Amino acid sequence: MLSVILPAYNEERMIAAATTAVGQVLKSAGISYELVFVNDGSKDGTWNEIEKAAKNDPHVTALCFSRNFGKEAAMLAGLAGASGECCAVMDCDLQHPPETLIEMYRLWEQGYEVIEGVKRTRGRESMMHRMSAGLFYRIISKAAKIDMSRASDFKLLDRRAVDALLAMPERNTFFRALSSWIGFRTISVEFDVQERTEGESKWSTGALIKYAIKNIVSFSTVPMQCVTVAGLFVLLLAIVLGIQSLVNYFSGHAVEGFTTVILLLLIIGSVIMISLGIIGYYIAKIYEEVKGRPRYLISRKIECRKSEIEKS
Ligand code: UDP
Ligand code: MG
Repeated sequence: MLSVILPAYNEERMIAAATTAVGQVLKSAGISYELVFVNDGSKDGTWNEIEKAAKNDPHVTALCFSRNFGKEAAMLAGLAGASGECCAVMDCDLQHPPETLIEMYRLWEQGYEVIEGVKRTRGRESMMHRMSAGLFYRIISKAAKIDMSRASDFKLLDRRAVDALLAMPERNTFFRALSSWIGFRTISVEFDVQERTEGESKWSTGALIKYAIKNIVSFSTVPMQCVTVAGLFVLLLAIVLGIQSLVNYFSGHAVEGFTTVILLLLIIGSVIMISLGIIGYYIAKIYEEVKGRPRYLISRKIECRKSEIEKS
């Protein structure tokens, strides 16, 4: 059985559409499936819509978070609650075309264990968004040592890969990169990002920047090493200026240079502050991990009706 995981946050107008669209595609391909909706603490009628969908369609399984925990947590909860031999993760706004699921499933049948959806095109985006996304992916690709410029969260994973992901104890996960990091027999499938038909994207520019920093930190310690490099650079500067000052002192014209003093204070001060900030951020993340709080809390659950699926 294929489990399709659909994280949903304020998607009341997409639930029914996603249920039928994905259901139709998979039924016509003769693939047995379940749909795992994860309601990520939506503030609108998403949960009601999911309950309705579950009443009409025995394939629907659903989890409801006690509050909004973010898409990463929702995807992991869906994977943990899925019972299929393979699990696919896709957006429930239908920006990931359901037809691609069939292609992915066939590759899984051929023995691939991680099938990654890569974006052929990125859909419509603002110039600013495209550029910052480009920068983010360059950094994270270096950090994770995987080309991620076209990566997405649209993936199909074998049970073994899912179990490997779920066994990871860390709280700050970045699904897109972790699913490559675990290895296994991997292949990618291209897809075109569809237009969103209803509702709106949950990502503001601020949220994206925060998301980018969080994921870079969770995958790389390079920013901390930048602190060392900055320190070395300042040391070099100090040696040069130190020699110059000593020469001035011994040759008898040492009073001037007040501007240099002020500039040096400012430069070194800001380098120290930035460095402390970077180190502080890592410590904050360590603190979060050490606390070991659960990634999410589930308040309600709906199980799919296996007996009815078998009859139909
Ligand atoms: N999503 C979620 N929790 C959040 C934000 C988003 O579960 O806090 C879900 C959302 O319902 C959708 C998917 O993640 O199914 C992608 O979100 P969105 O379409 O807003 O992102 P975009 O496609 O613009 O990158
Ligand atoms: Mg979307």
